Amino acid sequence: MNNTVQEINRLKEGLGAIILAHNYQPPEVQDVADFVGDSLELSIKAMQIDARFIVFCGVDFMAEQAAVINEGSVILHPDPEAKCPMASMISVEDIRRARERHPKAPVVIYVNSPAVVKAEADYVVTSANAVDVVSNISSDTVLFGPDRHLAEYIAKKTGKIVIPVPEDCYCPVHVKFNPNEIKVLKSIYKDHVFIAHPECPASVRALADFVGSTSQMIKFVKSCPNTRFLVGTEVGIIYRMVKECVGKSFVPASTSAICEDMKKITLEKLLQSLRNKLYRVEVDKEVAIKVRKALKNTFDVLGVESPWSKK
Ligand code: SF4
Repeated sequence: MNNTVQEINRLKEGLGAIILAHNYQPPEVQDVADFVGDSLELSIKAMQIDARFIVFCGVDFMAEQAAVINEGSVILHPDPEAKCPMASMISVEDIRRARERHPKAPVVIYVNSPAVVKAEADYVVTSANAVDVVSNISSDTVLFGPDRHLAEYIAKKTGKIVIPVPEDCYCPVHVKFNPNEIKVLKSIYKDHVFIAHPECPASVRALADFVGSTSQMIKFVKSCPNTRFLVGTEVGIIYRMVKECVGKSFVPASTSAICEDMKKITLEKLLQSLRNKLYRVEVDKEVAIKVRKALKNTFDVLGVESPWSKK
């Protein structure tokens, strides 16, 4: 174990801190984390954790989300410059304008958004539960932001009218997957099962054998009798897949599908974060109350107990 990792572990124990890392984090950061997961898994963990400090290794909206749902812990984000470009494409004004145009349509907001935007929502979802939530909402038309590809996917799966807000917002990493390249890869890797994230464009999803969030992909890979997979999401997930899915092999469907912001978190920044209690994430109280209300609506419509009540 190198000195940085030893020091991270020592400081973590001394502070009573828990390290959470997203599936797209660099391998060495995943390795020192107490828990690695996708947005839904990490949100649930953040709700349940009883720790003085949570160090969130991911992008800005994820650390902010942890601060919204766990008021009892201090949330630290090792690099505030690690910002999701998609989350910055949607504003409060976008939601308010859309509500004026479609006053009867409930607003469903993807967790990949700033807290002030989620505070405008009726429901807050992740890619793992978005389809179920929209299916269970009584309205046939919903407003959904910010990812228009995920909006299209939800519309296809639910048969409902899903209006994207704003009109053309996307994840710059998942739009790198190209259907023509996928066709070539599929012809080379004939025995591979192609799995894709719902943030990929429809032309890419149409070629997939399975579409799901990163946690759903891992579940699928574990239960699938096939042992070879072509992976259509950010390449960082492959590290976790190799670790957890013994005997299975993975080929990235695009080697350029790298989220540079996710990779801004390094072991050195994590060490400084623990050593100097940097950078503390705080969310306005009124905003946090509104986001928690939207999350409660989400759990209610799914008919599941809120993870808060299991603390
Ligand atoms: S992969 Fe896409 S949605 Fe996820 S943090 Fe990076 S830019 Fe944002």
